[in-house]
Amino acid sequence: MCRALVRVDLTADAPSLLLRRRATSIVLLLGLSVLAVGCRTPGPYRLGSAAQWNTAPELMAINEPQIERGRPYKTLDTVGWIVGIPGKILMWDRRVDNHRISFETERMLADYLAVNELDGVKVRINQYAPREEWRRLVANKSVGAGWRYTLGTLSVVGYTLLPGRVFGGDNYNPYTNTINLYSDVPAFAVHEGAHAKDFAGRRYPGTYAALYLLPVVPLYHEAVASRDALAYAHDYWPIDEERQAYRNLGPAYGSYVGSALAGGGSSPIGLPLEIAGILGGHVVGRSIAETLPERDQLYELPPRERTIALPVERVPQEEFQDDGDWYR
Ligand SMILES: [Zn+2]
Repeated sequence: MCRALVRVDLTADAPSLLLRRRATSIVLLLGLSVLAVGCRTPGPYRLGSAAQWNTAPELMAINEPQIERGRPYKTLDTVGWIVGIPGKILMWDRRVDNHRISFETERMLADYLAVNELDGVKVRINQYAPREEWRRLVANKSVGAGWRYTLGTLSVVGYTLLPGRVFGGDNYNPYTNTINLYSDVPAFAVHEGAHAKDFAGRRYPGTYAALYLLPVVPLYHEAVASRDALAYAHDYWPIDEERQAYRNLGPAYGSYVGSALAGGGSSPIGLPLEIAGILGGHVVGRSIAETLPERDQLYELPPRERTIALPVERVPQEEFQDDGDWYR
């Protein structure tokens, strides 16, 4: 069913506006329902294991600590918060790009990475660390050097010049195998973790990353990640969190559907289509959230030794005490 999504979307380049509009509604409906229902993995969530992953030993050697937090800077983080206002409105969640990630969100991502044995993934929570990212780019030998020193270099140049601490935008960088978080939204955090899981299992991660730059193709990568995140939430999160995951990931996926329809960055209808996609995603995500049946049985997370120690034990507490409600 995921393939059908891509096939239908190819019709989006039809010349007439009418066809284009029709394609819009078809792809929106299909894309979002596929995300939500069609590709739902039957049975329990399939956990990953280290034996499946293609992680460079050179990268594993420099991955401690796995999760790091940037030092809070009130002025800088306030600027980031303001820059993130459009994102907060479009995603209809004030936690988007709030640059104040709670320990609950961190714990939820740490658990996800631990139970999937994704030990080579780095998590930077509201942190700017360009020098370390360059180092990771060099060490990440599971991505072919041809991709790493071209597109990978560009990705780290982008990270260096347009820091997420200001511009926000949670992301996963496959060239450095790093998750950057700026939002306190568990579903977004685990969605980025799911990208890491998807890439870890690829034989040619560099090629898979490069394909993402083509039009329409990101719908596939994004569906894989959101599907995994939603299946995980279904098994391991309380129902309220699972519902919230649909409310968050629906509009996020809708934005990719919108940009896929626009067929690239500079199109004048790009922004309206993206907003339409986001609105459609809200409608679909919210209606699924509402129809999810109540349940009280959850699978238990695997034993404690497979979870990651939180940096709260490593980072001196006084760093976080300049603002009482900064971390709950
Ligand atoms: Zn994504």
